[in-house]
Amino acid sequence: MTVTSTRFTNRRAPCGRLTDGEHSESRDNQGLVSDQMLFDCGCKKSREEYHDGSIEETTVKHDGKLLSHETISEHGA
Ligand SMILES: [Zn+2]
Repeated sequence: MTVTSTRFTNRRAPCGRLTDGEHSESRDNQGLVSDQMLFDCGCKKSREEYHDGSIEETTVKHDGKLLSHETISEHGA
């Protein structure tokens, strides 16, 4: 598993604030990708790609409230 982590500055968090934060991306041996944005205010955005090609995206506000949770399937309905 490889984890790449980078700092970012002045990005708009899900709550609307402009804030700094950290972006991290991890990749396992089979190519599964997990992508996370952690804002300094506490907001969090994550995106996971699964082996079957589906993608899950979650946005959580700094107070812990789930703002959006989406699963996108490559296979269609
Ligand atoms: Zn926030």
